[in-house]
Amino acid sequence: MTEEIRELIEKFALQNAVKYRSAPNHGAVMGKLMGERPDLRPRAREIAPLIASVLRDIEQMSPEQWEARLREIAPELIEEIGARKEPAKGLQPLEGAEGGVVMRFAPNPNGPPTLGSARGIIINSEYVKMYGGKFILRFDDTDPVNKRPMLEAYDWYIEDCRWLGAEPHEIVAASQRVEKYYEVAEELIRRGGAYVCLCEQSAFKALKDAARACPHRDHTVDENLDLWRRMLDGSFKEGEAVLRVKTDIKHKDPAIRDWAGFRIVTKSHPLVGDRYRVWPLLDFESAVEDHLLGVTHILRGKDLIDSERRQRYLYDHMGWVYP
Ligand SMILES: [Zn+2]
Repeated sequence: MTEEIRELIEKFALQNAVKYRSAPNHGAVMGKLMGERPDLRPRAREIAPLIASVLRDIEQMSPEQWEARLREIAPELIEEIGARKEPAKGLQPLEGAEGGVVMRFAPNPNGPPTLGSARGIIINSEYVKMYGGKFILRFDDTDPVNKRPMLEAYDWYIEDCRWLGAEPHEIVAASQRVEKYYEVAEELIRRGGAYVCLCEQSAFKALKDAARACPHRDHTVDENLDLWRRMLDGSFKEGEAVLRVKTDIKHKDPAIRDWAGFRIVTKSHPLVGDRYRVWPLLDFESAVEDHLLGVTHILRGKDLIDSERRQRYLYDHMGWVYP
């Protein structure tokens, strides 16, 4: 009888040890035993030294030995541990990723990386490791005024990617690729997907909120191309003209209606100085870059769902497929 009880104690103690990867305490084993075998409760005083003796042996063993021994005397208890394990953690599978992925982490370097940045870097780069492909670090640094980039921060992001084991396969700074966005803007105008708007900001907002088009929306392609060139050559002052992407002026969400893709900014940029005076806004720049870089999957917070809704109009005008 004592031998049988001793064996039960050993099974439960080993199961506990394997499950938590540490030697169990006396109370846990006693509790388990009494729970499984209520008939033994009157004999607890007699059983306590048996538990102490078994635990002394178990403490001498390694986790590998616990598992081997448990497999030998009670393989069913190992299966029980497996079945009770928590659901698989880690990254969810990505749809359409089997052939490899191109993913990017795209910060604005207007300050040092944060814990949130670390999360973005790790999740994107881990997916690239999981499926194969390319991890891109892209600086969305095209706002020299409100989100003015810090020159030192570019290197901080690169260093932190490396420190997190996420060496980028490619590093690009949007501010050095503005000509590419100009080319897309011109093509977009030719396709009738954008127009130069000369409204004062408040006047446009009033029209937009009333779901009404401004007078510039009906300009011809040639008129728009001419106005766009004048934006670029300095004929307009800051705030006098923007290039708008045509959406649905009656869209139920005013934030989606004919959003601004480019504006005039005369303040010099920390990285490229005075090279440009017409700058893309974030939704335009990141939409175009995701296409140019061949990005296949974008991970973003719910707060950026509007961005995707706006950007889809641009993709549709251009005949591109949204990542
Ligand atoms: Zn207008």
